[in-house]
Amino acid sequence: MARRKKIYEGKAKILYEGPEPGTIVQYFKDDATAFNAEKKDVIDGKGVLNNRLSEFFMTGLNHIGVPTHFIRRLNMREQLVRSCEIVPLEIIVRNVAAGTMSKRLGIEEGTALPRPIVEYCYKDDSLGDPLVTEEHIAAFGWASQQDMDDILSIALRVNDYLSGLMYGVGIRLIDFKIEIGRVYDGDFQRLIVADEISPDSCRLWDIETGQKLDKDVFRRDLGSLTDAYTEVATRLGVMPKNATPMSKPTLIN
Ligand code: C5P
Repeated sequence: MARRKKIYEGKAKILYEGPEPGTIVQYFKDDATAFNAEKKDVIDGKGVLNNRLSEFFMTGLNHIGVPTHFIRRLNMREQLVRSCEIVPLEIIVRNVAAGTMSKRLGIEEGTALPRPIVEYCYKDDSLGDPLVTEEHIAAFGWASQQDMDDILSIALRVNDYLSGLMYGVGIRLIDFKIEIGRVYDGDFQRLIVADEISPDSCRLWDIETGQKLDKDVFRRDLGSLTDAYTEVATRLGVMPKNATPMSKPTLIN
């Protein structure tokens, strides 16, 4: 059996060369990391849940005309995605103060923001993904002004879509992070949503109880991460109630 070519291994995913040119197989690992990999663990079933949830969100975005890298899910842990050149920025959208914003600005976690606030971090693990301004982005050529206009518009559309979806199942979208990729069509370049959208990259709080249903459960030792992600997947109808996310990967389904 031929070994497939590994392109990149990150903290939560592995990328393999895809079956056709311009495609990549994205494999979701069970590894959980936080605080720039200072805290690590293996959480049974996390990869399966994130593969399904990211498929669900990306498919929904494709349907409302926000282009993403997602092509199709291949099996429990893998999806086929379009290969793209990742813009070296983490785009964070916040609706409610939490996490680093609360710490940085001294705003109590849970304070609703007057409007969605978009922040940019430079993607560099060795620097701890520092917050940057549009001045840095323009000066260092990480993205053009046109790119930044498009990125802002994509980020706000993703926010509207995800907020509504979550609200419908009793979950408040506190904040999230997306990554953006460039694809080239002849002489033209387009921006698409890439990487993943999952409870690893969002803050999700139950509307009634405030219970955290995202990676903060792991970061702050608040209980079972699998239970939290399963709750999100079940409410969204992504996982049937009796599913076992721990199942081993198969080639079908
Ligand atoms: O840590 P911070 O408050 O800046 O995170 C804001 C949002 O971005 C959170 O939903 C967090 O899960 C996400 N994030 C991420 N990857 C990072 C940094 C933040 O998914 N490297």
